[in-house]
Amino acid sequence: MKNFYPQQYQTDSEFNINHNYLKEQFSDYKEIFNEIEKVVRDGDFTLGQSVNDVEELIAKEASTKYAIGVGSGTDAIFLSLKALGIGPGDEVITTTYTFYATIGAIVTAGARPVFCDIKDDFNINTEEIVSKINSKTKAIIPVHWAGRSCEMEKINKIAFDNNLYVIEDACHAIQGEYKSKRCGSLGDLGCFSFHPLKNLNVWGDGGIITTSNEDLANKLKLIRNHGLINRNTCVEFAYNSRLDSIQAVIARYLIKNKLQNITHTRITNAHLLDQMLKDIPQVNHPKRFSELKEVFHLYVFKVENRDGLYQYLRENGIDAKIHYPVPMHLQPAAKTFGYKIGDFPIAEIAANQTISLPVHEFISFEQIEKMSTIIHKYYSSI
Ligand SMILES: *Cc1c(COP(=O)(O)O)cnc(C)c1O
Repeated sequence: MKNFYPQQYQTDSEFNINHNYLKEQFSDYKEIFNEIEKVVRDGDFTLGQSVNDVEELIAKEASTKYAIGVGSGTDAIFLSLKALGIGPGDEVITTTYTFYATIGAIVTAGARPVFCDIKDDFNINTEEIVSKINSKTKAIIPVHWAGRSCEMEKINKIAFDNNLYVIEDACHAIQGEYKSKRCGSLGDLGCFSFHPLKNLNVWGDGGIITTSNEDLANKLKLIRNHGLINRNTCVEFAYNSRLDSIQAVIARYLIKNKLQNITHTRITNAHLLDQMLKDIPQVNHPKRFSELKEVFHLYVFKVENRDGLYQYLRENGIDAKIHYPVPMHLQPAAKTFGYKIGDFPIAEIAANQTISLPVHEFISFEQIEKMSTIIHKYYSSI
């Protein structure tokens, strides 16, 4: 089987409005190279200064006491479950409308994922969570889809009442907020990804876990690094999933120099598109709330004739995408859990009706106008 992933990074020359911006983003890579040179000269390759720095910076960003750098966003969720002692025989409630990694982490931890449907904002249907709780349930993993926080007050109340842990999948939601509180600080643990296609990205894989619980932070520091408390003492046989020191250099550089602008432009671009598209009856945005700071990792909305619009946008040089056409309960990998079509109707409708447009920091006002014009043209022509 061939590696299929790299195609995502090719900036498709047939499009002039692209989701991918990695080349532009790192056009000034020389400064980063200089910082990497220091790591090489010092031989500071594992859990060194750059990792410490990123952990401090992210803890500040997420307003938590601790952050623990790990190998990926997936590992962040997996290790969080392990740190909480969740494994075989346990159930974890989450949304069917997520990226594969949320479920992969639950399953590889040995637990059973129990799905809930979503609401019109693509986030987990909070009210449905209660009906899925039984004596095996150990945790809830709300996913802040597209960078929009779930209803964390209600979710935390349900968790408290039922003695469950809350692990936020905040992989889309760096700098996102719920009632002025940062995503990553809203549950027991928060999980972030530094994957190249995320808002805060490195040059390979990386992830981080945020928490204000000292015991959990210590446990995570142990289990991401073989359970070692020093070179010769292993107190628990565990994993090797550290945030790579060279990747941490890139994360540190972006947090210090670019993250504010990344978040700010995404929000500005998304709000512009909201305004420009709101007169089209076939376009249906999630309602926006001032208590939420959405950071628009994805700019997603529902439309009529989605596949037609998708084709039309691409023919007109716009790299529209679909995140994602098949919810988790209908994936071949989910067969053993016994779900079927119709089990989560809102998620299934979303899978058939959502479309995503690029709103990253290199999208210009003219490009936003162009996207709006093309969508208007499409709906006035059919
Ligand atoms: C990207 C992503 C992850 C996993 O992150 P990786 O760093 O790619 O392992 C987990 N959950 C969601 C919702 C994601 O989008």
